[in-house]
Amino acid sequence: MSEFAFELELCAHLEARREALVARQLGASVADPGGRILDVVCLEQGPEFEDRTAIASETIPDAAIAADVGPGRARYWKDAFAECHPDRARRAMDRACEIGFFERERRNGREYVRQVSRYPDWYDRIVGIENKPDLERPGDLESQLRTDASLGLVDEVVLATESYVTRAHLNRIPEEVGVWRVHRDGANTDDSSDTGLDLEVIREPATLAVDEPGIEPLESHPGRTDVAVVSPDAKARARRRIAERAYGKGWRTYEFPGCGTCSTKRAENATLPHCEWHGRLVDATLECGPSCPEYESESAPEVDLEGERDRETAWQAEPDGRQRRQSGLDRFQ
Ligand code: SF4
Repeated sequence: MSEFAFELELCAHLEARREALVARQLGASVADPGGRILDVVCLEQGPEFEDRTAIASETIPDAAIAADVGPGRARYWKDAFAECHPDRARRAMDRACEIGFFERERRNGREYVRQVSRYPDWYDRIVGIENKPDLERPGDLESQLRTDASLGLVDEVVLATESYVTRAHLNRIPEEVGVWRVHRDGANTDDSSDTGLDLEVIREPATLAVDEPGIEPLESHPGRTDVAVVSPDAKARARRRIAERAYGKGWRTYEFPGCGTCSTKRAENATLPHCEWHGRLVDATLECGPSCPEYESESAPEVDLEGERDRETAWQAEPDGRQRRQSGLDRFQ
């Protein structure tokens, strides 16, 4: 099975069974941005989750959250972003206004901003999942999981695989990392589902020390590895970035190819792109097009993935706050 298909079916399975937001392919390093990408992230809801859904459906830029802007008196925007590079500050301020986290007013030719509502305490534990359907082709698996365990950016890390997991496999990965074996025939647990996916817990994950300094390996040289020590504050901010990316992005980021051989497949509460020729899910951006021998040019199936996410999860495509703002704007049009 391809890693792509494994990942989509696992996301559908987790979304249907957990009170958590599911997202895929999110950056999870601090000192080396982009150095570590988590395949799947499950984000558990915090006490003010509903307040977050009321603000915006999109990711709020981290620089806007960190800026010295509150919901009270409006501030001259450049004073509020004093710690930030001017270009990044401008982009963050404009985006925050566009999605409704900030509102702005003009005074004497200067732009002043304030938060439409206070940024809430809306997420709790973050679980990172590394997908490796076939452990005989591990790639960088061991070093990736060692990075996750020593950095401690997410609360738990789990390896998900379809392979039979041996004692030797378990000994090669850090003991903090949990292991799930994914069965496709429903025969090994009583957790069978529409997709035929069952999760067998081979090892429970340990809780990582997210509030303590972490060690992030950077580059390996013969006989030594360069590392960065990452402070708890930097980790907290990186966790907030992960949470915001997860909220805005989710996991339905795939496309449906314009090919007559592709059909839609329902897996739990999700609609996925299924190729009849391959007999499996396909990654349209990588696999589909005129160079494929079975390609038949046709319109792509009409699937409203955003509407599906809105219906099936706690994420809201059209928050109430936005509807109020839009009807307010209508009065001036
Ligand atoms: S382009 Fe090829 S891989 Fe993609 S759906 Fe059509 S037949 Fe399948």
